[in-house]
Amino acid sequence: MRLRGRPPQRDSPLHELWRDPGTFGQLRGKTADQLEGGCHTCPMAATCLAGRTAMAVSSTGLLYDNRHCLRRLETAGVLAALAPD
Ligand code: SF4
Repeated sequence: MRLRGRPPQRDSPLHELWRDPGTFGQLRGKTADQLEGGCHTCPMAATCLAGRTAMAVSSTGLLYDNRHCLRRLETAGVLAALAPD
């Protein structure tokens, strides 16, 4: 799922962003049931809730699937391939 509502504006007051159900409201109410992709099947899902949302949304636009998760990259062997012994 992608972020709903209007995109946050740089000049929007913080209290408006916090109360807006289309921005921070989605983040405050995240549950493991909503996770998608690799986060949906992750054993850490209930604790992690797709990790650093800002990184996932800014790089992929996805709110519930963090494709840049270090745990996921490590599990897939990507980190070892980047830094061989
Ligand atoms: S961000 Fe990583 S650790 Fe967190 S739920 Fe997703 S795959 Fe699991």
